[in-house]
Parts: sequence; C-alpha cells; structure tokens
Amino acid sequence: MRRIHFLITIFSVAVAVMALSQISVAQNRRALAEAQRITGDTFKLAVRTPKGANIYAVTQPNAAMLAAIDQGLTDLFAVARKNRYSRRLNYSDYTVFVAKADREKGADGSYSPDIAVGAAQYAGTDYDQGGYIFAAGMVISNDPAAFVIAEHKRDLKRVSDIVRFEGEHLVLYHNDRRRYSQTADHSKGGGHPILQ
Ligand SMILES: [Zn+2]
Repeated sequence: MRRIHFLITIFSVAVAVMALSQISVAQNRRALAEAQRITGDTFKLAVRTPKGANIYAVTQPNAAMLAAIDQGLTDLFAVARKNRYSRRLNYSDYTVFVAKADREKGADGSYSPDIAVGAAQYAGTDYDQGGYIFAAGMVISNDPAAFVIAEHKRDLKRVSDIVRFEGEHLVLYHNDRRRYSQTADHSKGGGHPILQ
C-alpha cells in the first residue's frame, strides 16, 4: 500500500509540473504575440545570453550585444539587492525582445535606435509624435518578465542602460507593488533610474 501511495504522489507531482509548464508556455506565447503586435516585427530567432537570459530577435544578435544585455541585468540585480529585493533576480527570469529600430537617431542627431509605439497615455504630451512615441524600451509583460529594446550596432552601453531601466519596472512589480504603481507611467512624471 505504501508503495502505491508513493507512486500516486510521484504521479500527482508530475501532473502538477506538467500543468505548470503548460501555463508558462501559454504565457510565453502571449508575450511573444504582444511583442509582435507592438513592434510589427517577427521574432524568428530564440537564443540565450551567456548568463541565461532569454532573447527573441529578428536578426542574430552578436556576442557584444548579448554581453551588453547581461551587463544591464547584472547592474539591475545589484541595485535591486541594495534595495533588499530578492524576487526575479535570475537571468533566466527575463525575456528580451530585440526589435528592428524604427529610428536610428534622436531629435538631437545622436545615435539613438528606438522603437515607435502607440502613444496611448502619452497622447498630447511632449513625447507624442502624432499618435505614436519613440521609446528606447518598453515592458511587454510583467509575468513572464519581458521587455523590448531596439537593435544596436554600437553604443552598447546604451543597451545595458535600457535593459537595467526596463528591468526596474519588472523588479518593482515582483517586489514592491506600491512603488511599481507610483513609477510605472512616465507620462505622470519621473524617469530612470528609479532604483539607486
Ligand atoms: Zn520606464
């Protein structure tokens, strides 16, 4: 009897694990669909950074780009720990969509690959370009933790900064919901870095 009970326990754990992994597959699929809807890009490539973050891209990111993404997450985790946050501090917790840039230069002429996204709450503000705004990055999904950035050919320090900054919203969502709500919408003021 004891052995049967043991087998039943193993079986129910296996069923629970399968159910959980199906939920996460569905959530990942939803995040991918949302990223494609927002950017108009098709993310055909799935790779991992050396430290284990999940990357979906239009064209193969080079080693320097992947290292810059890892560096941004390293910076994010360090500042999160400083603020005594402990949840979602693994590289594999994060999914980064690397989209085609919709512009290469900012208004001041500097190299600034950004993506155009619907203006939504930014309509009528200084950000508004006529129904859309240019963003360096944007959170796609809080759970799984996913955001989009644009392809960069140089200034990879900028990539690390954007990763750290978008990641701030996700760390706050999972660790400090009140602070998350206060800082999530930049049209109400405030920018990055949020965490010091
Ligand atoms: Zn932000």
